[in-house]
Amino acid sequence: MTQQAELPPITPPVPQPESDFYWEKCKEHELWLRRCKACDSTYFYPRDISPCCFSRDTDWVQSSGQGTLHAFAIVHRGPIPAFRDRSPYVVAMVELEGGARMPTNLVDVEPDPSAIKIGMAVQVVFDDLDDKISLPKFRPA
Ligand SMILES: [Zn+2]
Repeated sequence: MTQQAELPPITPPVPQPESDFYWEKCKEHELWLRRCKACDSTYFYPRDISPCCFSRDTDWVQSSGQGTLHAFAIVHRGPIPAFRDRSPYVVAMVELEGGARMPTNLVDVEPDPSAIKIGMAVQVVFDDLDDKISLPKFRPA
């Protein structure tokens, strides 16, 4: 999936030292999460200190990219031209295998409540925004 040239560009995320590895793997179309070794849970966004128990005993684990739709909203009026011209689109919270939840977009689906169900199985896909950033998004599995 590549950004359509005629639309205003989306401002890409700026990787931080803690998330460089995450973005490098997204560029390879792999989804990696941080895992807390103290309580064996995965979490998002990537950071060294776990949000579950504040342990620093964390590492990286590759996600299967499989999950379920936890919540969604259909945006009909985007806040800035880049998003306004892409509406309607679906913002979503996906719960990945392992429990981590990540905010994302649901794609390859009609932006209509009758086509989208909480709990539906979803699978990661990557949107190559530019030569550095590929955004993980999800489609129905
Ligand atoms: Zn923990």
